[in-house]
Amino acid sequence: VSEARVVGVDVGGTKILAGLVTEDGTIEALREARTPQESQDALLRGVEETVESLIDDRVVALGFGIPSRIDQRHGVVIGSVNVPLAGFRFRDHIEQRFGLPAQIDNDGNTAAIAEWTCGAARGATDVVMLTLGTGVGAGLVLDGRPYRGFLGGAAEIGHMVIAQGGRLCGCGRRGHLEAYVSGGAADRAAAEAFGPGADAVHLVQLADEGDATAIALLTEIGHSLGVGLGSIVNVLEPEVIVIGGGFAAAGEWLLGPAREAFAREALDPGRDIARIALAELGPAAGMVGAALVGYELLHAAAPRA
Ligand SMILES: [Zn+2]
Repeated sequence: VSEARVVGVDVGGTKILAGLVTEDGTIEALREARTPQESQDALLRGVEETVESLIDDRVVALGFGIPSRIDQRHGVVIGSVNVPLAGFRFRDHIEQRFGLPAQIDNDGNTAAIAEWTCGAARGATDVVMLTLGTGVGAGLVLDGRPYRGFLGGAAEIGHMVIAQGGRLCGCGRRGHLEAYVSGGAADRAAAEAFGPGADAVHLVQLADEGDATAIALLTEIGHSLGVGLGSIVNVLEPEVIVIGGGFAAAGEWLLGPAREAFAREALDPGRDIARIALAELGPAAGMVGAALVGYELLHAAAPRA
């Protein structure tokens, strides 16, 4: 069975990243394609072509990380913000198309599963991961296994309230963590302070050059992140909190103030247990995790004695 391979697919808002992945998370082949945004059919064709190009005799399952609200129990994509997928029986469609077992998961979960299996949270049993991108993705590993809630929609930590009645979030509600600490939120803060065209990348560059306004903005964002992490630790008591996504490139400008606010909000002993670490796997984490979800499906179908 060591010859068995899974194709993992990360369906992102701008690109589809697919790979032939071994069970320990090693990438043997990689494909990248632009995400067709015109329609659901176009998106599916793009995904299927990418998968097709990686399939060989060794492939025994397919795993998908999707930036959507998911009913994993029934393999259904309920709705999405950044891709044209809604009310669609994704798993059935893919299984019929390729004649292979398939599983879907939220892209925040797949990134967390990858960092837990072969990244910054290796060996831990209780892990929280936040992915700071356009929005805030998140995933949980609790008691040594991925935690997804009843249907598969859990871990929407980006939509945790940190300021009642606060800033408008991408989901249309107010005061959610995502509205304060995402790369998108940092883009908006940068444009407000430094004019249109400035974004989170500029913000970090300016901070590196010693710009006081940029440092103050990143400090404020870091504090909001720390407040959120404090609440998460008070609820879940994880060993490791992994921070990934493009905006994690802000590094200590973000994590320094986050640790400070975190130490104020989190209760002991959770406060002293939780280690806040930067993600190690980079942009491939979601794809590798999607493949690992495929392996998880195989083991669930054929439990070992
Ligand atoms: Zn929200």
